[in-house]
Amino acid sequence: MKLTFEHTTLGQRVLFGSGQAADLVAAEAARLGAGKAMVIASDFEMAMARTVAAGIDVALWHSGVVMHVPLETAQAARTAAEEAGVDLIVCVGGGSTTGLAKAVALTTGLPILAVPTTYAGSEATNVWGLTEASRKTTGVDDKVLPVTVVYDAELTLSLPVEMSVASGLNGMAHCIDSLWGPRADPINAAMASEGIRALSRGLPAIVAEPAGLPGREQALYGAYLSAVAFASAGSGMHHKICHVLGGTFNLPHAQTHAAVLPYVLAFNGPAAPEARARIAAAFGSDTALGGLQELRGRLDAPKALKDYGFTAADIPEAVAVALPAIPANNPRPVTAANLTALLTAALNGDDPKTLSDQFQEEPR
Ligand code: NAD
Repeated sequence: MKLTFEHTTLGQRVLFGSGQAADLVAAEAARLGAGKAMVIASDFEMAMARTVAAGIDVALWHSGVVMHVPLETAQAARTAAEEAGVDLIVCVGGGSTTGLAKAVALTTGLPILAVPTTYAGSEATNVWGLTEASRKTTGVDDKVLPVTVVYDAELTLSLPVEMSVASGLNGMAHCIDSLWGPRADPINAAMASEGIRALSRGLPAIVAEPAGLPGREQALYGAYLSAVAFASAGSGMHHKICHVLGGTFNLPHAQTHAAVLPYVLAFNGPAAPEARARIAAAFGSDTALGGLQELRGRLDAPKALKDYGFTAADIPEAVAVALPAIPANNPRPVTAANLTALLTAALNGDDPKTLSDQFQEEPR
């Protein structure tokens, strides 16, 4: 078979070292010639941020982080950055904090040095998101790609097991969705496979020993790979659905991804044999869905969207908003009827295998 593809690699420095964040951030800020940093962190993350930024000149400490970056929070941060005349943004926190930094970079062009403390992976993508009037808009702009990422797994030790699992499965969703994203290619697939492998080893280790570093390091490494694959492949069906659930219904990001993923895999898997084989191999399992479900069982992963505030009455609107956004190259054609069936199963936490069996029979 001919191998033809087009792949763009995003330029970014990645520094990985447990317990080294403060030193790495200081060295990197000096290398970038920054003298007036804006540090962005949520109220909770600010204590970590103060330690991480101890060796740099900080002109502005900014919190006001809200999930999915409401436009008002972005505008407040942009104004603060401009008034303080900063020359570097250092963000220390989860995807919401990185998202706010990206919103500032989008309009100011300021470079970002990202220090992630969850497994969301936003730090390794050039994707920004903003929410206005309950509609989340995303876009792609290289200005928002952090110039450098500092990964220090010690910063993730405080992430509770439940949140670590949900966040790690958000990374897993980046990997799996990359395999059928609009720009899926063999390089993304290689990264996604290694991301699945690392996350599937790291997350159970975190559950077994939350204070242990090896599991945290594997999860962070997997999260990075997952985001690189996702940024290159683009949003597939899974991300388009979760984007609507988060932006329109305000469901929590990581838990929503964790709960929806097995249903998208059950839906697309039968129509995507190469992706299925790759996922199964990365899990070291006989089947892709079996591997994911076995892992989810060990992690006691989020199961049903109804546990996070989604209701049956929300499904028609979710279908109406998500359907037109799902890429045309999705392995299985998506209709209002089959998307309703998928969301109904995810709402109730039904066995995804039932969905898989149902769609196995559906003609293409
Ligand atoms: P989050 O950033 O909202 O963090 C969840 C909670 O965990 C917050 O209360 C936070 O303060 C806390 N927290 C963060 N680090 C912690 C730590 N080490 N210990 C204890 N608590 C900690 O959630 P998230 O899942 O990291 O990110 C979700 C957001 O990121 C969403 O808005 C999503 O759209 C965005 N995102 C964007 C991209 C992208 O490429 N643009 C990719 C992934 C996620």
